[in-house]
Amino acid sequence: MPVMSNRHSEHDPETRSATLFVVATPIGNLADLSPRAREVLERVEVIAAEDSRISRRLLDGRQSRVRMIIVNEHREEAAVAELIDLLLSGTDVALVSDAGTPLISDPGFRLVSATHEAGVTVSPIPGPSAAIAALSAAGLASDRFHFEGFLPARSGSRTRRLMELSDFPQTLIFYVPARDLTEILDDLVVVMGGQRRAAVARELTKLHETIRRDSLEALRDWVKADPDQRRGEAVLVVSGHPDPQPAIHAQALARELVNELPPSRAAKILARLTGMTRQQAWQQIQTQTNQTK
Ligand code: SAM
Repeated sequence: MPVMSNRHSEHDPETRSATLFVVATPIGNLADLSPRAREVLERVEVIAAEDSRISRRLLDGRQSRVRMIIVNEHREEAAVAELIDLLLSGTDVALVSDAGTPLISDPGFRLVSATHEAGVTVSPIPGPSAAIAALSAAGLASDRFHFEGFLPARSGSRTRRLMELSDFPQTLIFYVPARDLTEILDDLVVVMGGQRRAAVARELTKLHETIRRDSLEALRDWVKADPDQRRGEAVLVVSGHPDPQPAIHAQALARELVNELPPSRAAKILARLTGMTRQQAWQQIQTQTNQTK
C-alpha cells in the first residue's frame, strides 16, 4: 500500500485526523478495563474485534450502535482494506482482541502495519497482558526476558524449539493452555533439566488465580497431581540458563565454525548454540573470519 500524504496537519481544519487506537482489554477481571480504554471504546464509531460477541461485553449500553468489523486470523487481510478505507475517510477505529493486548499472540499486526503505511496515526491504550502480569508476579529475574508465546503443538518441533531456547540467559515466557501444562513441563524437564527455576501463573485476575514458583520438576509433579492446575489459561515463566557460556567459549566455537562452514551458516549455528542475537553472532563470525585471514 502506498504511503499517503500527511492527512493530519494541525494547520488544516478541513482534514479530520483519524486514529487507530490499539486498546488493551482485561484478561479475566472486567474491572481491569482502564477508564481511558472505556472512554475510547465508547467514543469510536468502529471497533475492530476478534470476536464481536466477546468484545460487546465491554461496551455496557451501547451494543447496538457501534459497528464491529471482525479481524481474526482467517480474515485479517480482507478486514485491513476495509479498515484502512475507514481510517482514511476520517473514522476513528479501536482495535481490540478477545483478551489482553492486541498483537501479543493475537491478531492485529497487519492492520497496525498497514495503518502506518497509510500515514494514519496509531495510538496504544495500554493495559493488561498475561505475559507482563505473569512476569511481574513470578519472582524470577525480570531485567531481561524473552517472550516466546505459544510453542509448536507438535512434539518434535516443540522439543527442537526448546533446545534452541535452552541456553538463553534471559527469563523465558510461554503462553500455555493449562490442559497442556503437564506435557510442556515434561518436555522442559527433559530439555532444560528438572532443577531450573520456573513459575506457573494460571487464571490471572480470575477467581482461581494461582501463581507458584518452584523447580521445573516440582512444578511438573504438582500439576500432574492436581487436575485443577490443568484448567483454564496459564503462563509459564522459566529462568534463563543459570550459567551462560563465558565469552571465551563463544569465541572458540566461532573460530571452529568459521573453519568448517560458510559465514552465514556459521553465524546461524553460533546464535542458536549461544543464545546470541543473529546480529551479535554475525559480528563474532566476521571478527573470527578476519583473524584467520
Ligand atoms: N493478547 C493476550 C495478552 O496480551 O496476554 C494473549 C492472547 S493469547 C491468544 C491467550 C494466552 O494468553 C492463553 O493461552 C494464556 O497462555 C495467556 N492468558 C490469557 N489470559 C490469561 C490469564 N487470565 N491467566 C493466565 N494466562 C492467560
